[in-house]
Parts: sequence; structure tokens; C-alpha cells
Amino acid sequence: MATKYIFVTGGVASSLGKGIIAASLGKLLLSRGLRVTIQKFDPYINIDPGTLNPYEHGECYVTEDGAETDLDLGHYERFLGIHTSKANNVTTGKVYDTVIKKEREGAYLGKTVQIVPHITDEIKRRMLLLGNTGDYDVIITEVGGTVGDMESQPFLEAIRQLQWEMSEEDLMCIHLTLVPYLAAAGELKTKPTQHSVQALQQAGVHPDIIVCRTEKELSPEIRLKMAHFCNVRPGRVIQSIDAWSIYQVPVNMHAEGLDTMVCEHLAIEAPEPDLGALKDFLSKLKTPETTVNVALVGKYVELQDAYKSIEEAFVHAGVANRCKVAVHRIHSEFLDESNIDAKLEGMDGILVAPGFGQRGLEGKIAAIRYAREKGVPFFGICLGMQMAVVEVARDLLGWSDAASTELDPATTHPVIDLMEDQKRTTAKGGTMRLGAYECSLEPGSLAAEIYGTELIKERHRHRYEFNGQYLSDFESVGLRASGRNPQTGLVEIVELPEHPFFIGVQFHPEYKSTPEHPQPVFRAFIKACKDSKK
Ligand code: GLN
Repeated sequence: MATKYIFVTGGVASSLGKGIIAASLGKLLLSRGLRVTIQKFDPYINIDPGTLNPYEHGECYVTEDGAETDLDLGHYERFLGIHTSKANNVTTGKVYDTVIKKEREGAYLGKTVQIVPHITDEIKRRMLLLGNTGDYDVIITEVGGTVGDMESQPFLEAIRQLQWEMSEEDLMCIHLTLVPYLAAAGELKTKPTQHSVQALQQAGVHPDIIVCRTEKELSPEIRLKMAHFCNVRPGRVIQSIDAWSIYQVPVNMHAEGLDTMVCEHLAIEAPEPDLGALKDFLSKLKTPETTVNVALVGKYVELQDAYKSIEEAFVHAGVANRCKVAVHRIHSEFLDESNIDAKLEGMDGILVAPGFGQRGLEGKIAAIRYAREKGVPFFGICLGMQMAVVEVARDLLGWSDAASTELDPATTHPVIDLMEDQKRTTAKGGTMRLGAYECSLEPGSLAAEIYGTELIKERHRHRYEFNGQYLSDFESVGLRASGRNPQTGLVEIVELPEHPFFIGVQFHPEYKSTPEHPQPVFRAFIKACKDSKK
């Protein structure tokens, strides 16, 4: 079978959940035994989202091979249980970068370099890249942004050309729109969908299926009306009604017939999807035996997407422990010794989040002290681990000015310091320690018990590290370095064996958690929270 290409575009509004629809379709096709991957094309000019802050872009997701990517790749990995890579997230910036470099090398000598055909050719090349590996039956491509935006036009032009270059059976386009309910009129409104499909067709791309986000059921009449006005076959307008969990969406999409229509259109012969494991997960998610309250201490409390993978990892770990994890976001910037008891009271566990920069750091340190002194389960990720080291240095070693040099470059106790190769690095884009590295766990440690093995691989995104010069000082007050990089010796995990559950990890375990394989540290942390409740 030739590789099949499915493009997912969106219209009317952003944040409709295109990534969830793409991931749900991917899950359904994968569950039919097909080899599937999903890629995202983003219309902004940054080379990658690594230089964007969470206010602009939510969480920055990191792949195994060290790409800093859009958070939708997190959904793809969680829904499909696959690994994505650098090739799975392409931005306008990357496309132009390639074309401009080629121009300087003389690849287009004598020619005027233009959006069409040079930029669109490069977009097409990248759209087909993963398909050409022969590793996949189906490539789903999500196009970021909203149809009608100036930035998306070259991407739509590339799809338009591919529609003519490929056979009808090898390519299709799914368009996601919003059908708003106007309470005052008591009606669902189809006009925004009609306009959005018009904009898509003006670009020469015709949708084969329209998926409508809606709060209320779409009647057969309204579906037929949209099919007529939007130039698609009757029956090819389906609804994606607000779901109680994002993991319910694949089940809903299957009930709407999405994967069946796709297989029909692309002439794919595949058995019905096996959704047994997903349904089992959903039924456990719906019927928790108890609730644990977890404080998520960070500085982006108001941003829904800033800690996406952490929140999802809690959902997975909750199901594994048969409990609901109620996440309470606590703003680290407004946390200090005077209010900490009131703010953290009743929490069964405390997670201190990753982050960058000085803002809110003292609040994170205060939360760690609280967890350490009161015996509340503690889990620190990246900056959260680094601040645990600072807290122990200040309080147990008595080095009152101990700090990360990110926080205080002049400290006399730089217990967290810039990594050696970072000291020579000035450029900010893609220059952190990124992606998966091995970590050896010390036999008998909490970490080794959690993972049940002695060699793990987790993903990183940082510039600073535990300053190995102080290791014996830390050991003298009971802080154990239980995970080290086998090649460099870099400390990746610290723990306090005297505490019921106190662990800090330099890496980001949240990126690898999926419903079917909850991440071990998250699972153990939630178990500790549940136990501490008793
Ligand atoms: N700012 C810290 C560093 O660069 C931590 C990064 C993070 O939490 N991802 O090392």
C-alpha cells in the first residue's frame, strides 16, 4: 500500500482542539493495525517554540531526539504511544531557513527565489519526508493556525498542489470548525463553518470530511445543510461534542464513523480498531476510589497549557493508583514563609515545576522546605530539583546564600551552576541540553525501586546542573545523588532517604507518560500522596 496522507486544517477559531482530533484519528488508525505518525506544521517564523515563553505558546514539548516542539506533539505521543522526532514539527522559520541557505549555496543560481514555487516546494518536501521513509502507512499532518490567516497560505498552497500530484485514494483533507450555539436564538449556527470552508476552497483545497466542534448534538438536518453548502458528501459532516476527558475523543470519533470514512476514502483495508485498553483506562478514570490533592507550585498558574504534560501525567498516574488527582496550582511568586501554611494546608503532595529565570524562585524554595520539614511527599522537576538542592544547602548545610547561578551569579555557594559547555554558548535557540540521555540508578535507592531497573533514559531541557564539587557535603546531610549520567557523572536525581518521599529529577519525566504506560516517578509520587492521606 502506498503511504496515505491526511491533512487536518482548522477554521472559525483557534483552540478548537485540532491536535486532539488529529491524535484521536491517529489512535483509531493505529488501533486498526496501521503504522501511523503525526506531524505538525506551524506557520510562525521562529525556528522552533524553544524560544517562546508559555504566555505565547503554552508548554514546550521535547522529543526523544531533542527537538523543542509544539505541545500537540505531546498529545500525539500520549494518544498513540509513539515517539515523534525533529521531523514531526516544521515551522515557517525552518522552511525559510532551508531555502535561504540553499540560495546562498547557489542552488537556485540565476533564478528569482519566490514563495511559489521555492517555499511551497520545500513545504511539500517536508510534508512527504516521513512518508518516504517507508516506515508508515499513514501520515497525518496537522496544519497550525486558522484557515484565512495570511501565514497559513503557503501551507494550503502546498496541500492544493499535492492534491493534484497524488491519486485521490492517497490523500485527503479533514477540516475542523466550530458550530456555535446562540443561547438567545436557541440555535446552532452553521454560517461560520460555511465561511471557513469557503476560505479553504478559495485556497483550492477541498475538504473531504468536516468535523464540527459543538456543545450540543447536531441534528441530521443541520449536518445535511452543512454538507450541501460546504461541498462535501452527505454523511461526511460529523460532530465532535465537548467530551468529559480528551481520552474519550477517539471513542466519540469512532462512534461518528471518522476512521471508517477515512479508510473508505483512502481505500485502506483494515480491521475494526481495538480500543479495549483505552476503554479500560476511561472506565477507571471515571470511577476513582479516592481523591488526592496535589499542589503544583509554579509561576504560570493562570495559563491552562503551561504545564500540559505534567497535568496529563497526573491523570495517567491517578488512574494507575485508582484515584483522582486534584491539581491545585499555587503561584510561587506569592508564596513565602508568612502564608505557606495556609496555602499548602491539606495538600497530600507537592510538585515543584520546571521553569526559567528568577521570578517566583524563593516561593519554590519555601514550598520545598515545607514539604521537607512536614514530611509531605515532594517531587521536583528540573528547576524544581535544582531548588531542592538549594533549599537543602541553605537549611541543612547552613549556607544561607546558596543558590543557582541562574538566580544569583555572585553567590559564594553555587550549588547549581551552568554546565561547562553552556559557559561557551551565547546563542539561545536550540542550545540547551536537550533530549534523551541515559541515567544510571544507584541500587537500593528510591529511584531504583521506582523504576525497577538500573538504567533509564529520560528527556532533558536545561542549562544548569548540580555542582558536583559539593556532592560530599550534600551526602553528609543525607541528600543522596541516586541517578547519574553514566558518561559524564552529572547528577540527574537527588533524594532524601530519611523522608517518606522526597525526589528531585533533573530531567522531564512528564514527557514520556501515556495512559497505557504511566510514568514511574509520577505513579510512585501519587501512590505516596495516597499513602500519606491514610
Ligand atoms: N532554568 C533551569 C536550567 O536551565 C531549569 C530548566 C527547566 O526547568 N526546564 O537549568
